[in-house]
Amino acid sequence: MAESSIPWGRRTQQAPALEAMHILWITAGLGCDGDSIAITAATQPSLEDLVLGAIPGLPQVHLHHPVLSYENGDEFLASWFGAAEGRLDPFLLVVEGSIPDERIGGEGYWAAVGVDRETGQPIPTCAWIDRLAPRAWGVVAAGTCAAYGGIHAMEGNPTGCMGLPDYLGWDWRSKWGLPIVCVPGCPVHPDNFMEVLLYLLKQAAGRAPMIPLDENLRPAWLFGQTVHEGCDRAGYYEQGDFAEGAGSHQCIVKLGCWGPVVQCNVGKRGWMAGLGGCPNVGGICIGCTMPGFPDKFMPFSEIPPGAMLSTTAVAMYGKAIRALRRFTQASMNREPERRAGSATRGEAGRLPATP
Ligand code: SF4
Ligand code: SF4
Repeated sequence: MAESSIPWGRRTQQAPALEAMHILWITAGLGCDGDSIAITAATQPSLEDLVLGAIPGLPQVHLHHPVLSYENGDEFLASWFGAAEGRLDPFLLVVEGSIPDERIGGEGYWAAVGVDRETGQPIPTCAWIDRLAPRAWGVVAAGTCAAYGGIHAMEGNPTGCMGLPDYLGWDWRSKWGLPIVCVPGCPVHPDNFMEVLLYLLKQAAGRAPMIPLDENLRPAWLFGQTVHEGCDRAGYYEQGDFAEGAGSHQCIVKLGCWGPVVQCNVGKRGWMAGLGGCPNVGGICIGCTMPGFPDKFMPFSEIPPGAMLSTTAVAMYGKAIRALRRFTQASMNREPERRAGSATRGEAGRLPATP
């Protein structure tokens, strides 16, 4: 697995520990707001835990989210203008949705939020990112669309949309020295995202070193293993027990699961409160946390090319190993010989026949 490109222990430039942090959350990229919806299900920690200050040692959090904030209209946008003009600081910028290329927008625009006070024209999402990113303490891409372009950036892509690293540059750093942090997933995993937010708040408070990221700017500890390595069905794969149709408890690689090569912890973590998680509950992994998603994983629901070879090899080994295990299992299902003839169990550990 890829080494972290940013070593543990390297600290940001912040001298003082920050006592408060505004979180400005843009949902006006090209997306479905699914990441915001997913995050409301988080428990480790929950959004409420952070906003209500239930976790000690963190800066006080002020959340500015178009759906979750109490303010709306001009009152809501006041914090955005304030941040863009340097009056609201420090803040963490969270971007949700793919970033369109407004250079090819013609006379219109692809995505916007709010109205320019001087021109009366809508303010494109790109313009907000241009205004806010240079002043941000850090920038986080929530979900695969914001991280790598996602579904909107698949082949064809009429809006020319892209992820934040392609928009700002992969080597971009905030004024505090933080790289872009990408938390991919379609949608993002609720607890993965909140764990990253928690980490960054700890870092802002001076209680954690620089967040370790892999070469695709994903938090290294969350995306260092494959789905397969944490999947409930991995035992079936190893024995060559492959499902031929839906509704089976066996490994679903032949139905199109890409888990053996996809970096995602959902198999191990589950989806909500440890429950669910795509292949655990019968859904093939379609690689939604990967920069190559979706193009490189299509067509969905067909056996991945590499899996043809591996499943053929595993099937031969699995057939032999299953037979040996059944033999051993039969033996282990019998009590030791020395217990044979006990008053209650009868001969050789077997229950007496019912009269
Ligand atoms: S269902 Fe997918 S992730 Fe799970 S064991 Fe099979 S191939 Fe691996
Ligand atoms: S298991 Fe696969 S499809 Fe499911 S969230 Fe992870 S990468 Fe996406």
